[in-house]
Amino acid sequence: MDDLAADPSHPRYESLLKRHILENAAKKGMLAGSALIAHGRGEAYDYLIGEQTIETAMNATKHALYQLKMAKHPVISVNGNTVALVGEDLMKLASLLDCPIEVNIFYRTPERMSALLNHLDEIKQRLDLDVEVLGASPDTRIPGLEGPRAKCCQSGIFLSDVILVPLEDGDRCEALVAMGKTVIVVDLNPLSRSSKMGSITIVDEISRVAKNLISMFGEQEEILEHPFDNEKNLRRSLNHINQSLTEASNFPV
Ligand code: ATP
Ligand code: MG
Repeated sequence: MDDLAADPSHPRYESLLKRHILENAAKKGMLAGSALIAHGRGEAYDYLIGEQTIETAMNATKHALYQLKMAKHPVISVNGNTVALVGEDLMKLASLLDCPIEVNIFYRTPERMSALLNHLDEIKQRLDLDVEVLGASPDTRIPGLEGPRAKCCQSGIFLSDVILVPLEDGDRCEALVAMGKTVIVVDLNPLSRSSKMGSITIVDEISRVAKNLISMFGEQEEILEHPFDNEKNLRRSLNHINQSLTEASNFPV
């Protein structure tokens, strides 16, 4: 990053870098006003899980990858923060999965949509990826939702059987589940509505998740315990937070 004041040796370099990326994305018109607040909430939970991929998150990531690979019509749905932070890795993942990526934002304006689509298009050209980028011309709606946030593409989100929706709003997540889809949520907050609604919730930072999905893609699949119990996995994630707080505060257990 050219104009980032922090040095890579700074203990919080990774975190500062992400903030810087989001600041730049905001300047380019890619983010809604509340985007930085949403990121801050995520950062707070990341502190609580120790800024690492915890065991329950890895378990959920493995199940998520399995579902995406087995899907007939997988799709990756992205919002502003996701495009800014991991647009490149999710384009690579879409290429590996041979699936479309659809820009689907909560506060839809033509300016934000074109800023996000342009950003993904630049990645597509630069990396020479054969990925279909959807979202410019939504032609249908997610049932049960009002207003512009219901808009989506028939050949992408609407048709999909398995959908990866990082940092999704709880309401929309619920509507996607009601459509019968397997909904893979990435959310650092295990208590959010999205986390509770999702079919598979990965309680981890989106940059780490994207890297894990890509690096595990070509690996031999492990035998996984089916069916995935999301509620149990979320309770185990909360338990991890509980335990680390207990240890840090030196309470007798
Ligand atoms: P819900 O409607 O699901 O209850 P919310 O209102 O709590 O959601 P939103 O504003 O919909 O929150 O979305 C932001 C969510 O994304 C937060 O729960 C936050 O923890 C999570 N989040 C933010 N940044 C990241 C990130 N980089 N990686 C993973 N999760 C993130
Ligand atoms: Mg949410």
